[in-house]
Amino acid sequence: MQTLPQIYIERIADQLGEETDAFLRSMASPRAHGLRIHAGKLRPADNPDMMSRLIGAFDLKPVPWCGTGYTYDPAKRPGKHPYHHAGLYYIQEPSAMIAAELLDPRPGEIVLDLAAAPGGKTTQIAAKMQGGGLLVANEIHPGRARILSENVERLGIGRAVVVSATPGQLAARLPLAFDRIMLDAPCSGEGMFRKEPEAVAEWSPDAVAMCAARQRDILPDAAAMLKPGGRLVYSTCTFNREENEETIAWFLASHPEFSLLEQRRMWPHRGEGEGHFAAVLVKRPASSDAASRPPDGRDAAGRRAKGKPPRAEEAAVQAALKQYREFAAQALPGFELSGDGVPLLFGESLYWYPQPAASPLPAEALGGLRTLRPGLHLGDSRKGRFEPSHALALAASAGQAAIAIDYDAHDDAIAAFLRGEALPDPGSDARGWGLLCANGYPLGWFKASDGQLKNHYPKGLRTN
Ligand code: SAM
Repeated sequence: MQTLPQIYIERIADQLGEETDAFLRSMASPRAHGLRIHAGKLRPADNPDMMSRLIGAFDLKPVPWCGTGYTYDPAKRPGKHPYHHAGLYYIQEPSAMIAAELLDPRPGEIVLDLAAAPGGKTTQIAAKMQGGGLLVANEIHPGRARILSENVERLGIGRAVVVSATPGQLAARLPLAFDRIMLDAPCSGEGMFRKEPEAVAEWSPDAVAMCAARQRDILPDAAAMLKPGGRLVYSTCTFNREENEETIAWFLASHPEFSLLEQRRMWPHRGEGEGHFAAVLVKRPASSDAASRPPDGRDAAGRRAKGKPPRAEEAAVQAALKQYREFAAQALPGFELSGDGVPLLFGESLYWYPQPAASPLPAEALGGLRTLRPGLHLGDSRKGRFEPSHALALAASAGQAAIAIDYDAHDDAIAAFLRGEALPDPGSDARGWGLLCANGYPLGWFKASDGQLKNHYPKGLRTN
């Protein structure tokens, strides 16, 4: 690791006192590697065989503060394994798992992850929502938002909307919209020093002050989007007080409607992981109904958003949905669209947007925002033909498909499929769309005809 700046060491010593040596020793030792089993796909109790297979393959050891979190042996490279392509887990630094545990989202709620890329907390929150509610995952940087969207797809998450907006743009569009909000704030990244040595070179007291100022810009927008009685978790992967306790104290002083429920610090010398800070803030419940009016698609000035498909387009939406239903009846007869969803057509792409009955967030409320993924991407309607999406393959299970061909993850056929190669039909004599699976978990679509499985694994995801 790079030499730590003297002023940084002095600040740490001021915080840690006699624990400073233990902290500095931990900074000179190898970092912890973690992954989180995605319960949206694999519930250990439902598939103990697969769970033992993963424990054996990657030498998994439980993370005490997260029921689905494990450390792994980096030599086993789980990020390169077919099970990673199948979305069975997400590689995540162990101490970062604490923030979504403290957010404690429930099925049926409307939740926002305000600074979400690459998606560690988004995917953890989605798993905790157990296929209910609606999760809005936002990332300000368009390139990082694309990575976030790919991770949402890989884990087969159907009830998430991925947008790319500034916190201010979101707050103007979605006041009082969310039951829970995660703000995993951009920070000076002192907890990244072992993983990314360049973070040491970028660190300075000025950088810390600049990050604290930015956090104080973002927090009021997060506060404005939370429903009365809602919960906001503010977290960082940095250690200094300025970006953590002092930012929270500043926020509480300027937002008397909030109180602090709990503040948690994870240190690399006290447990597995790189270190994290998380504060749990709760907003006072509403005194009148008017104060908790959910968004209806109007902005703060009462203007209606553009973005709802005009009526003339409704026929095109229904035509695409009919094509999807015909496709699903043949290829995916066991897959059910959620009863609370509505179809949305973006160009040729058909999505299923979830509107939880208890407190729907109308699709129009997101109008005008740069939206990368408005719910589950079902597929594309092209020249009268329906082509299923990769997201649909990853959201489905093998048992829901009319044709599913399964190989052991170590079989050459799996590596060839992930490289994008066509495969010989192993004797199913099937025709049409089917799912190629690794030990029962879908990796993607093929189209079978004349003894060949034509590969539809997305070009951008293929291995070489
Ligand atoms: N929550 C993510 C996860 O668990 O994978 C990590 C988020 S990272 C700590 C902070 C994110 O904030 C980055 O993706 C960064 O692009 C974004 N960001 C940077 N400046 C921002 C701003 N002014 N407002 C909102 N987000 C910002």
